[in-house]
Amino acid sequence: MVFFCFLVDQTKEMQKSKPAAGTCSRCGGGASVADMKTATRFCYVPFYVKSWKAIVCTFCGATLRSYHD
Ligand SMILES: [Zn+2]
Repeated sequence: MVFFCFLVDQTKEMQKSKPAAGTCSRCGGGASVADMKTATRFCYVPFYVKSWKAIVCTFCGATLRSYHD
């Protein structure tokens, strides 16, 4: 599959989360603090991984606030 080797993409993954105060501005669902991990991939092989924290909605998955280092 040489053709796809020009592909660069990013995956966002939620490592773990715990309930937080606040509600989602989009759907009114409950918010939680999550440890996020963003992996930048080239040819589906991660070559750059960044960990960060975010307040996310547990219902619709919206990122309400992020804490990038
Ligand atoms: Zn929501």
